[in-house]
Amino acid sequence: MAILKVARMGHPILRRIADPIPVELIRSAPVQALIHDMFETLQEYDGAGLAAPQVHQSVRIVMLEIGDELQVLINPVITALTEDLVRTYEGCLSVPGFRGAVDRCFRVRLQGFDEQGEPIDRELEDYDAVVVQHECDHLDGVLYVDRADPRTLAFLEEYRRWGPLDEVFEAMAEHEADEEEE
Ligand code: ZN
Repeated sequence: MAILKVARMGHPILRRIADPIPVELIRSAPVQALIHDMFETLQEYDGAGLAAPQVHQSVRIVMLEIGDELQVLINPVITALTEDLVRTYEGCLSVPGFRGAVDRCFRVRLQGFDEQGEPIDRELEDYDAVVVQHECDHLDGVLYVDRADPRTLAFLEEYRRWGPLDEVFEAMAEHEADEEEE
């Protein structure tokens, strides 16, 4: 059992389409060992979720915390259930030290298999829906920075100091409007 090295942006494995896991192999020792190591890695780095390509394994496994419970997802499929979007400042263990705003579907249906090979079919919304979309994007070689509004990208230190840039832009626009009135 081991804490795994996390691939960072620029490593080609993060841009591959990951391979599905044959369902009959989910309970096999190598897959179970990978899931266990991913769990230890996620805990070590205190992330919201982790996808196998982030630990240099190009297979369709992700895990994320939903409420207090850790959900392992194998061969996940996400379907949008609304056109409503939610904007969140996302970060990623593979893009350390950054935050950026991404608009994602507010409610999704999630299908796939858990770590025992049992089918999963559930609906997620808001923050949980955001995290699952972020993690599943990793399986298709997509990073959140691909989807982020580029003007909102910030180093973590600046993000903590100045807050979400959307709010900064709003305050700037209000300030300019006030000045015009005077
Ligand atoms: Zn990520």
